[in-house]
Amino acid sequence: MKVLKTIDSLKSEIENIKKSNQTIGFVPTMGYLHGGHLSLMKEARKQTDHVIASIFVNPLQFGANEDLDQYPRNFERDELLAKEAGVDILFCPEVSEMYPYEMPMSIQVHKGTDVLCGQSRPGHFDGVATVVMKLFNLVQPSKAYFGQKDAQQVAIIMNMVQAFNVPVEIVQCPTIRESDGLAQSSRNVYLSENERAEASMIYDSLKQACNAIKNGVLNRKEVIKRVKEHLENGTGEIDYVDILTYPELEIQEKLSGKVIVAVAYRYENARLIDNNIFDIEEENRHV
Ligand code: AMP
Repeated sequence: MKVLKTIDSLKSEIENIKKSNQTIGFVPTMGYLHGGHLSLMKEARKQTDHVIASIFVNPLQFGANEDLDQYPRNFERDELLAKEAGVDILFCPEVSEMYPYEMPMSIQVHKGTDVLCGQSRPGHFDGVATVVMKLFNLVQPSKAYFGQKDAQQVAIIMNMVQAFNVPVEIVQCPTIRESDGLAQSSRNVYLSENERAEASMIYDSLKQACNAIKNGVLNRKEVIKRVKEHLENGTGEIDYVDILTYPELEIQEKLSGKVIVAVAYRYENARLIDNNIFDIEEENRHV
């Protein structure tokens, strides 16, 4: 596996790969790798000739009071894990390499940002879209891999690719969980022992919502109320609970079709997100 820190060195590798007409699978990450990231890399390994992963903690997507400085980092460990997962090139630029001067422009996301993380983290998805567009232009992948855990992010990246005719296929991969159901996340390391023991209730609350919907509770507000009641037993704070159509992310008071049940929950040093996406009519056919 090659570890590249500069755009110039990446460009020359990409040129060589393109000359040989081989496909590139790309996995953008912020590092502190876990099973979720590795599952994306392994999927890319299966589907494409060259796997390129990036590790870049992108300042543009962090708000002023967010955890940019505290975001966990461990490059040596990430390097080993990425290699084991079959990555060919690990691109890990410094901030000064990606943004050598203040960006004179950025992508502004107009749709799908008035809900969920877009609402609680203003400007976050503009930062995500801007860095992903830069990375797509550098890496020129045929396919790029994103996790369902950040479902709003994938929906926005898919919209971006469509809106700007970016020639890349977005592959959405399932959420990888710990054995008790907690979604794997780099931020889980900041949970206290008690919080970690409790945090599987986030996934439990999503399952409960799914069951209620399957049992015919199709009133959006009622299902949200039940999820909140479940989460109110925890020691953290609910940031949001919502149920929206997916991938459109629109409010629908009487639930039908494909929906996302999404939760953000704030512990002392970590804000966790999780979701469940399913087709109500499809689920009911299996009951
Ligand atoms: P991050 O490093 O948190 O920016 O995540 C990089 C990529 O990994 C994004 O596409 C995430 O959606 C994905 N990812 C993060 N956690 C998980 C998980 N538990 N399961 C699957 N994919 C994940």
